[in-house]
Amino acid sequence: MKVQVLGSAAAEGVPGYFCECPICIEARENKGKNLRRRTSYLLDDDTLIDCGPDFARQRDEFHVQTLKLKRIIFTHAHKDHLDIYPFLIRQKRYSVVHTSLTIIADTAPLERIRKETGCTFEEMFLREKHIAPGDTVQDEDLTVYAVRAAHPIETTPLNYFLTRNGKTVLFQNDSGWWSDETWKMAAEYDKKADMVILESTTAFGRPDFDAHHLGANATLRFRDRLLELGIIRDNAVCIVNHFSHHGDPRHERLEKFFLPHNIIPAYDGMVAEI
Ligand SMILES: [Zn+2]
Ligand SMILES: [Zn+2]
Ligand SMILES: [Zn+2]
Repeated sequence: MKVQVLGSAAAEGVPGYFCECPICIEARENKGKNLRRRTSYLLDDDTLIDCGPDFARQRDEFHVQTLKLKRIIFTHAHKDHLDIYPFLIRQKRYSVVHTSLTIIADTAPLERIRKETGCTFEEMFLREKHIAPGDTVQDEDLTVYAVRAAHPIETTPLNYFLTRNGKTVLFQNDSGWWSDETWKMAAEYDKKADMVILESTTAFGRPDFDAHHLGANATLRFRDRLLELGIIRDNAVCIVNHFSHHGDPRHERLEKFFLPHNIIPAYDGMVAEI
């Protein structure tokens, strides 16, 4: 399985639209790995995980072939992960679309798409597959298992285990420290992850924060707990993503901190394979 990171930033992006903080000023000047679009992933060439306000830029820069896309899996309903506009524009009067897309999500993202577009899923050539914590959804050869993330509940936040061809990837953004129930559900799942994409939204800004996102120290603790409970394999590929400018996510600094712990900081366009 191949995962491409299409975006590595939290809600504001790096640089933020009009932000005057030193991190955003430096990112605008130096660009490269310090330019971060909003978080989204491409799995193989047929599955998007989240589709936010940077999707058009990500599609063009990273050559996402929209005709090959079969599904979009949404982690939750926050606007940095779900932009309504691409769906609104799929209607017949705006676009020529023959290829149906399956949307896999819990209630809040599905409701946002319906309410904010004012369209039915049929009008947007979308199919819906509802998933809730503890559910397993099979969509062709992809197995999707969801657990409840620690994030504002009104966004129906999920973390996902995605399995294909005997390999499993765990997507852990957006979430703080899991509840006891989630740790239990993840530990009891019969598939161990070969790759995990952790989050570290507040990174060095609030390193111990773990309420609804994680800081750098909390990310390390989270990874160690995954290992301890056998949720990820001992040799799992560990990646960290979803960075806010408030957390000082300069790529060099992230590498200096995380690489000695065998965690690879993500950047836009990065590809990882298992
Ligand atoms: Zn986010
Ligand atoms: Zn900034
Ligand atoms: Zn969020």
